[in-house]
Amino acid sequence: MTPEVSIIAPVFNEIDCLDELYRQLSEVMDPSGYSWELILIDDGSQDGSTEKIRALAQKFERVRAVVFARNFGHQIAVTAGLDYSRGQAVVIIDADLQDPPEVILDLIRKWKEGYQVVFAVRAEREGETWFKKTSAALFYRIIFRITDVRIPLDTGDFRLLDRQVVNVLNRMRERHRFLRGMSAWIGFRQIGVPYRRSARFAGETKYPFRKMLKLALNAVTGFSYFPLQLATYLGFVSAGISILAIPVVVVFRLMGNQTFFGQATTLISVLFLGGVQLISLGILGEYIGRIYDEVKGRPLYIVNETSEMPESDK
Ligand code: UDP
Ligand code: MG
Repeated sequence: MTPEVSIIAPVFNEIDCLDELYRQLSEVMDPSGYSWELILIDDGSQDGSTEKIRALAQKFERVRAVVFARNFGHQIAVTAGLDYSRGQAVVIIDADLQDPPEVILDLIRKWKEGYQVVFAVRAEREGETWFKKTSAALFYRIIFRITDVRIPLDTGDFRLLDRQVVNVLNRMRERHRFLRGMSAWIGFRQIGVPYRRSARFAGETKYPFRKMLKLALNAVTGFSYFPLQLATYLGFVSAGISILAIPVVVVFRLMGNQTFFGQATTLISVLFLGGVQLISLGILGEYIGRIYDEVKGRPLYIVNETSEMPESDK
C-alpha cells in the first residue's frame, strides 16, 4: 500500500540523530492517523550512519533506505528522496532535528486546506552562530533582490509538497540545484507556516561556509542573469566616466594644469579595468562551467543500494 505522506530526510554523518529522528517522527505521525513512510538518503556518510539506516529499514517497514555511492550534497540527496517518494504529500526535513517534527502537522493542515506547497518559515533560530544567522539573512535578501522568482524569505528546504508538485519537480533534472527556488518557480498554491528552528540534536553542521557559498552560487546562477549583465553595466559606467573625463583633461591641459599626469594615474586605471575584466570573465566562466556540466548529462546521483533491492541484486 502506498503511504499518504512521505517524509524525506537527507543524512550525512548523522549517526546520533537517526534513532531520535525516527522516534520523534513516529510520535508525531502515528497518532495523526496518516499512513507514512520515512525515506532516509545516505549521502555518503562515513560515520556508521549507513549501517544505522540499514538497520532502521530492516526493523521498521515504513523506513526506506537509499544509499549513495558517495557524497553528492544535500540538494541532490533531497532530489533522490523526491524520486523515491510515493506519498500524496511529501515532506522534506533535516535529519538533525533542527526542523521540529511536530510542525509537520501544521504543514499537513495547510495541505488539507488545498495548498500544494507549504513551506516552513524560520521565525526564530536557536543554537546557531551569529555569523550563520547574519549570512543567511543577507543571502535570502540578495537572492530575493536579484532573481526573477519570488523565493520566500527565511525558508529552508523544510516544506510539504503535493504529489502534483513533486511530479513537476522530478521532471526538472538540472544539476546545480536550489530546490527552494525551483519550488517557488513552478507556481501552484503556496503558503508559509512560521516555526522556531531548534538547535541540532547532535553533531555539527555539515554545511561549512564553502558549501553555503556553493549553494548561494547555484541559487544566483540558477535563477538570474544579473551577474552576466553586470559586465554590461560596468562597461557603460566606465565608458561614461572616460567620455566625461576627456573634455576635463583637455581643458586642464589648455589651462596648463598639471593634474591627471604621471604613471600612477595610468597604472591605477589599468589595474581597475583589468580587475573588472577578469571578474567579468570569471562570471562568464561560472555560467559556462554550469552549461558544460549540464551538457555532459551525467546522472544526478549514483545509488549504491536501497532497502528495496533483493540481496542478490546488490
Ligand atoms: N546533508 C547532506 N549532505 C551534505 C550536507 C548535509 O545530506 O553534503 C544533510 C545533513 O545530514 C542534514 C541536512 O542535510 O540532515 C542539513 O544539513 P546541516 O544540518 O548540516 O545544515 P544546517 O542546518 O547547519 O544549515
Ligand atoms: Mg541542521
